[in-house]
Amino acid sequence: MLPEPVIALTAALSKLPGVGPRSAERLALHLVQSDAAEVRHLAAAMVQARERIRFCETCGALTEKSPCSLCDDPRRDNSLVCVVEKAVDILSIEKSGSYRGKFHVLGGKISPLDGVEPEDLRIGELEKRLAAEPIKEIIIALGTDVEGDATSHYLAKRLARAGLKISRIGFGLPAGSGLEFADELTLNRALEGRREMH
Ligand SMILES: [Zn+2]
Repeated sequence: MLPEPVIALTAALSKLPGVGPRSAERLALHLVQSDAAEVRHLAAAMVQARERIRFCETCGALTEKSPCSLCDDPRRDNSLVCVVEKAVDILSIEKSGSYRGKFHVLGGKISPLDGVEPEDLRIGELEKRLAAEPIKEIIIALGTDVEGDATSHYLAKRLARAGLKISRIGFGLPAGSGLEFADELTLNRALEGRREMH
């Protein structure tokens, strides 16, 4: 019933996170009836953002330049590294406003069922940083689900070395969820109430 280009656009949009087949079709129909210049602007903004944004080679944050402004900031405490699952988790912790250390993005959680093994994550990169940077504490800030627990324990074991404190946030975090669901106050408390794993 729908013209082929609309069907193709719907299929492309439905691959986006949180966009089901119905909203994809609604968006596609909206776009093909919108002002052509506005649609061109949207397409250009998408391409430009994708081309300019990459991962920081040190911490894994989304950035225009590597090392990113967080890694480069001399006012941040470089003895403290907060380990998060995804680059966007950095934003959640930054919004809490109380953390002044550095970050490290793992890029996922260990999940054998989904085929995610430790070597698929940026753990080797973290070990390199431990050897090169004056890190005294690793704060593990992964979600409180099964994979988050397993990954935290794996990290605590693998990263254990003399003179390094390894702690994990958890207090008050919603059970079984990731950082994006926690509000600023909760994250603040979770950071302050972090517990030592070693
Ligand atoms: Zn960085």
